[in-house]
Amino acid sequence: MQHFSISYYDGKLSVSHDATLTLMSDHWLIHYVDELEELQSVKWKLENITTDQNFTTLLIFRYGDFPQQTIECKDEVLLPALNEKYPAKVFLEKKLTHIFRKNNAILVSMVLFLLALLAVAYLYIMPFVAEKIASNIPESVEKRLGDSIYDGMIAGYTVDDSLTRAVNDFAKSINFKTAYPITVTVVKENEVNAFALPGGHIVVFDQILLKMKSKEELAALLGHEVAHVHYRHSLKSMFRTLAGYLFISLLLNDINGIAAVLADNSNMLVNLTYSRELEADADKKAMTVIQSNGISLKGFVDLFQLLKNNADAAGQYEILSSHPLTDERITYAKAMAREQTGIRDQSELQRKWVSIGIK
Ligand SMILES: [Zn+2]
Repeated sequence: MQHFSISYYDGKLSVSHDATLTLMSDHWLIHYVDELEELQSVKWKLENITTDQNFTTLLIFRYGDFPQQTIECKDEVLLPALNEKYPAKVFLEKKLTHIFRKNNAILVSMVLFLLALLAVAYLYIMPFVAEKIASNIPESVEKRLGDSIYDGMIAGYTVDDSLTRAVNDFAKSINFKTAYPITVTVVKENEVNAFALPGGHIVVFDQILLKMKSKEELAALLGHEVAHVHYRHSLKSMFRTLAGYLFISLLLNDINGIAAVLADNSNMLVNLTYSRELEADADKKAMTVIQSNGISLKGFVDLFQLLKNNADAAGQYEILSSHPLTDERITYAKAMAREQTGIRDQSELQRKWVSIGIK
């Protein structure tokens, strides 16, 4: 009969008793002297003994539900002795371990599920909500955001003051049917591009202007960019893309933080591309507006042709974002131009076009 020195906790007192453990065929016997100096004998039925998963040389066994008794044993001989005496009972692979493993699997699946939920939220719900928020931002706030984005980005360009003046004068002759105050800035850039900022700023690269042959093309380009402003396409796109940052700023109710995030990322507007639907929406709105101004829609055909011919230079930019769908846009514009009625004399616009001075 083997005896082992153990520490025994009866589950009622937090102090342990020095005790001896005797291994019987279907139970364990624990003997100790209690605080009244009386010898106590405790019987643990083998089938109800559990063990803690442990990674030390300290063996821990538990018994009963409540109050749960515990044995701790540092005797290294105990484990081989247990395995020898009860070969059928694997003492370090007990109930608790099983429960732990089962829970672990549940835990892992829950964590994975939560991660998936977060990913879905991050990829789909947050951009969606961000876009909704973008739609509901008051115009005055949008204007402020647009101004700070503009200030942040325009410093990186060389503004052509005289072209800027002339094109703004030109734009004033067209009723764009939008509440946004439209301000055009022409910058000296050797690429064919133009884009809209939230709140009414439109940036036009001088290269695209210099390639134009008629006032109708410029009217079409401005009409298209104004439509992006009007529908808040750039604001929504930025919000979608930067949803994560913006949410934090919104949570902190920090408009200046939002402005800073947008301004920091203002260069994304230069390379921003819109979906085919947004481009089609912008074209459609622009054509309606240009038509109601009595200006020929042939400008759209020529503009798209210009873009197509300069696809290498404009390939990655907003204005050509639907490339290689440019042919589709040309076809659509041609059809609209064919059916157009009510073209009016545009002598004032013509005069302003001439004063822009493009040969
Ligand atoms: Zn566009």
